Formats: sequence, structure tokens, C-alpha cells
Amino acid sequence: MTTLEVTGDAGRVRYTYRLRMSSTARAELEAEWARCRWLWNECCARSKKAHAAGEKCGPARLDKMLTVARTANGWLRQGSSVPQQQIIRDFAKSRAKALKDIKARLPMGQRAGMPGYKKKHAADPTLNYTQRGFRLKGGRLYVAGGISLGVVWSRDLPTPPSSVRIYRDNLGHWYASFVVVTATEPLPATGRDIGIDWGIRETATTTSDTHDLPHAQHGKNAAQRLAHRQRMTARRKPKRGQRGSKGYRRAQRLTAKLHKKVARQREDAGRKWAKKVVRDHDRLAVEDFRPKFLAKSTMARKAADAAIGATKQALIHMARKHGRELHLVNPAHTTMDCAQCGARTKHALPLSERTYACTACKAVSPRDKNSARVMLVRAGLNPAGADRVRAAGPQARSQREPGIPSL
Ligand SMILES: [Zn+2]
Repeated sequence: MTTLEVTGDAGRVRYTYRLRMSSTARAELEAEWARCRWLWNECCARSKKAHAAGEKCGPARLDKMLTVARTANGWLRQGSSVPQQQIIRDFAKSRAKALKDIKARLPMGQRAGMPGYKKKHAADPTLNYTQRGFRLKGGRLYVAGGISLGVVWSRDLPTPPSSVRIYRDNLGHWYASFVVVTATEPLPATGRDIGIDWGIRETATTTSDTHDLPHAQHGKNAAQRLAHRQRMTARRKPKRGQRGSKGYRRAQRLTAKLHKKVARQREDAGRKWAKKVVRDHDRLAVEDFRPKFLAKSTMARKAADAAIGATKQALIHMARKHGRELHLVNPAHTTMDCAQCGARTKHALPLSERTYACTACKAVSPRDKNSARVMLVRAGLNPAGADRVRAAGPQARSQREPGIPSL
């Protein structure tokens, strides 16, 4: 069993703000990005070559490459070295992650891919600045190279930031995302524990009857509208090698806008729920679900995956912020284990089977409630500290008709 404890003394949080800038500043940022993109692609080429030759291509070698490239190319020296070093570090990091996943023999869908080339029109700019590469003065943000940016301060930064990421999203909006270290804000002890299981019908099923999170309806409505927009985009898709029409670009933008809206609603719902869970419980046992985004999966499945991902992230942040104990529990076999006696069924339950009936101890409970309880047991927490799981009598069962998400 692998459980990871995230007890927080202090958490690193991102605070993101919209940026306003002059056309000069925008051109300067785009030029910085062009140089960084060239470096990233150079890293790709080098690492492929090294791999083919059976040589190593670690961070030290890439750092050296940067020094050599900056000496040889005047146009590269025109840019600040801070984001350039940072992009090389990011490349090394994502390459190391991909190699680690290959070594761990993770199946194809769950494996981080090798970092690929960033194409000019497909990759949105992202520039990372460490502490020595930026400063805040008079409400403005100055980054290395003398670029001055106006920040829309929608809320205050709690402490001075340690780094900033400047990026443009697919709608063409620019943002500054600061990393700040926040102190924990302890909450009163409650003496209660909770187990949390993620799912499709309900985003979260918990050992508490009042903390379940139904799958948000806005995801479903948006899925229909998204499908419509995507058909609209597909109809207007340009032929290979041709530039997209105005209508095509408009349709693309509308799709991106809708995606963003859904993501915001999801984050908002996740944050509110996480706050409630963290306020009411001292210790949390959470399924360590990893979104898969398999190519073949349906739109609804992808939406559920995204909702779980956002909610889990919100929960981890909230627990860290308020100094609660959070265990991430390995999800293997949780649907097959009995929370009462620990017996494991021989076969995985089909998804249509909503009730878990143990052949060993004869306990009967709703399938997801059983899984949520298994989380508690696996995290070494006492199920007695959780709210009692109701046995699935006729009354309880009528409240949970299979196939209909309870709202
Ligand atoms: Zn049992």
C-alpha cells in the first residue's frame, strides 16, 4: 500500500492575474518566447541525437549547450538568460519524467510523453522567471530585459512571490501567475475522518452522507454545446496547407471560450466543496485517481475525468492550506475489497452493479460507499471515526436508483 501524507506547514500556491500591456511590451514578450522556443526545439533535436548514439543527455549537458549557443549567436544574447535557463530546465524535467515512466513500464495511455517540438503557430508562449528575473514596483511587473507589464490586481498577493510565469492562453489573453508560499491557517479540530472515492456518476462519494459531490450538470449541458461548436469547427476546417477562413478561426475561438468557461465553473464548484470537506474533517483518505484522457473515451468520460482532476487538486490545496492530514490512497482493487472484513472478490464488479455484497462477511452496501470506506481502512484511519455507512436496506436503496445520479 502506498499512502502519501500531505501534512502542511506551508503550501506553495499560484495567484494568477490578467495582464495589460503596450504593443511594444507584447512584441518584446513574443520575441523572448521565439528565442525560448528555438532553445526548446534545439533541446529536442540534441536529446534525440544523443539517444540515437546511446549517449546521455542530462541537465548538465543541456546547460552547457545554452552557454555555447549564447556565445555563438548574438540574437540569442539579446534575450534575457533567465527564461532561457528556465525553459532548458523545464525540458530536462519533462524528459526525465518521460524516461522514469518508461522505466516504470506504465501503460501507454498513462505515460508522460517525450517532450516534442513546439511549433510556431501551435504553441502558446510561456515564460518563467525566477526571483532574480522580475520585480514588482508601483503596482507594475518588470521582467528581465526591461519589459514593463500592467497587472490587473483582482486580489492581493498574500506574501512576496518567489517566481512568476507569464503566459498567453488560446484566446490571446496574457496572464502572470505568481508562486507564493502561504502560511497555514489552522481550523478547529472536529474529531472526524472521511474517505473519498472518485467516480463518473458522482464526482465524489464519501463515507459521509452529507458530503457527496454529484457530477455537475453544467458539464453535461456544456458537452452538448461543445459538440455543436466542434461540428461547426470541423465543417470549416481548411484543407491541408491552407490558412483557415475567418469563420473557422471564429468557431475555434468560440470553442476555446466555452472550454474555459466550463473549466472555471468546475474549479469553482470543486473549491467550494473542498472547503466544506476540509472544514468538517481532521483527516482525509483520498483515492489517488489519475485522469487518463484515453483517445477512445467519450466526451462524458473526459468531462468526468477533468472534473475529478480539478476537484482533487482543490482538495489537496485546501487540506494543505488549513493544515489537515491528507492521505492519497492507491486505487488498485478498491472496488473489489470489502471495507468490513477486507476480503477481495475474485472478479471486478461490472460498472452496472451498484451494490457491493461481500461473500465472506455478508455485508451489503452501495458500491461507491464501500470504496470510500476502503480508502479510510487503507490509509490506516479508523472507520469508526467516520460517519456510519448506512446498510443498503430497501429504504436506502430506493434513494439511489442505479443509473440516475442522485442530486
Ligand atoms: Zn466482507
